[in-house]
Amino acid sequence: MNSDQSDFEGSCHCGTVRFRVRLSDGLNTARRCSCSYCRMRGAVAVTAVHEDFHLIAGEEALTLYEFNTHTAKHYFCSKCGVYTHHKRRSNPAQLGVNAACLAGVSPFDFREVPVNDGVNHPSDRAGEAGSGILGVLTFVPGDEGAR
Ligand SMILES: [Zn+2]
Repeated sequence: MNSDQSDFEGSCHCGTVRFRVRLSDGLNTARRCSCSYCRMRGAVAVTAVHEDFHLIAGEEALTLYEFNTHTAKHYFCSKCGVYTHHKRRSNPAQLGVNAACLAGVSPFDFREVPVNDGVNHPSDRAGEAGSGILGVLTFVPGDEGAR
């Protein structure tokens, strides 16, 4: 995995939703988030701006999920259920894109993934812009024989 690669094609599991994206800082923006939704979803997200995300197919299959302030827009495929991307609450100009949907990328390629403090959301703290990092999730590969 080349973490500086920025141009990717991506799709959901069943292939109905397909997109092309240019990431803002390659795969270096990989994050997880501790908010009530993301902690269940469990995906690693990378960052792009709206203009650099292009749906190629499957717009009609995308389902939108919103909660709480309805600022964040979480999209997933209505056929296979896989999360593809979301409009960020912390910065609505940005999209989070499911790293696991990108061609050639596995979420387990990221040995360490910072976890955003999504419970204490920046938008809930008046006058604070910070992006708090709670900690880092580490993936420790086993040896091949153990699989
Ligand atoms: Zn699908």
